[in-house]
Amino acid sequence: MTIFEKIIARELPSTIVFEDADFIAFKDINPRAPVHVLCVPKKLSSRLDEITNPLELGALMATAIRVARDHLDLADYRLAVNVGAGAGQIVFHTHVHILGGWLDGDADSQHADMAAHG
Ligand code: 5GP
Repeated sequence: MTIFEKIIARELPSTIVFEDADFIAFKDINPRAPVHVLCVPKKLSSRLDEITNPLELGALMATAIRVARDHLDLADYRLAVNVGAGAGQIVFHTHVHILGGWLDGDADSQHADMAAHG
């Protein structure tokens, strides 16, 4: 079981900000922006490029956008996906990072932090 499957199953605690039949979104345990939420498909795939169905890819992105705008109230935000260990992926259950909430001008330095985390 992946860490995120345990969160979905409520075997691990998390702060859930959105959930429906297909997706869950919860706060990152190690936030790298004032708002840092992970949007996770409940159907397990280990990395983004394992999802071959464009409708599933679209639904993941549409859900991340909906969470950012409607549930986190973010006007501006960054969506990021690390695909593979070499790109910084540490949890092998596909997820989209939703980052935002910076004060004016802070987003660029936060971008560097996200890349450095890489
Ligand atoms: P990745 O580097 O794989 O793209 O991102 C994985 C993210 O999962 C990291 O930002 C990390 O902080 C977060 N994370 C790892 N373990 C947990 C956990 O147990 N709970 C939560 N909420 N986030 C986690």
